[in-house]
Amino acid sequence: MSNDSGDEQKVNTICKLLIREYGDIIVERSLDPIEELVFAILSQNTADINSERAFKSLQSAYATWEEVLAAPHDELAQVIRSSGPFRVKGERIQSALTEIKKRVGSLDLSVLQDMETSEAMDWLTSLHGVGPKTAAIVLLFCFEKPVLPVDTHVWRVSKRLGIVPDNSTRVKAQDLLQQIVPLTCLYSMNHNLVKHGREVCIARKPLCEDCFLNRHCDYYQTLH
Ligand code: SF4
Repeated sequence: MSNDSGDEQKVNTICKLLIREYGDIIVERSLDPIEELVFAILSQNTADINSERAFKSLQSAYATWEEVLAAPHDELAQVIRSSGPFRVKGERIQSALTEIKKRVGSLDLSVLQDMETSEAMDWLTSLHGVGPKTAAIVLLFCFEKPVLPVDTHVWRVSKRLGIVPDNSTRVKAQDLLQQIVPLTCLYSMNHNLVKHGREVCIARKPLCEDCFLNRHCDYYQTLH
């Protein structure tokens, strides 16, 4: 990695190239904060199609979050069965809802709106089963806080590009990226790095020779 200003310049360039290739994604989300939190928990370590199916099933089975909270564990687990480790996720959802209700008196996350970003992040990550990526999804998409959710694709591609150190943990990478990615790029960067990681900078065999970022990539430089 280069120095700070060099990193910022490099991130800027990469952000622009990603936008040129994949577009400037402005994500319009229709989920409210509790829905976004539950959807993010269902999305942990599973393919989008499975978490989307589980979320629809949850919405069909229960009319309110109070009903989800009161549901028997086994019943809820069966409803979200398509989401991968469904028992763990059911337990996380109920535990998060229980704690939110205990803290604010209702199933409502609007308390996060007026918090500083770091305070809101601490508040959410102190809920059982809510890690930095899940919290960042809620804060970025529902409250427009300047955070960048880092999933396995964003983490891998960022390390290969050299915009975070190769030995960064995912949590550290999220922390560093939030400091150097321009505010105007947060939405597109999240979406576009995931897309690039799935289609080009593939985990096992990145398609470096065809990659439009290779001039700016540390990993690519090591190959030549
Ligand atoms: S050059 Fe290779 S390692 Fe670098 S971003 Fe592109 S695909 Fe990934």
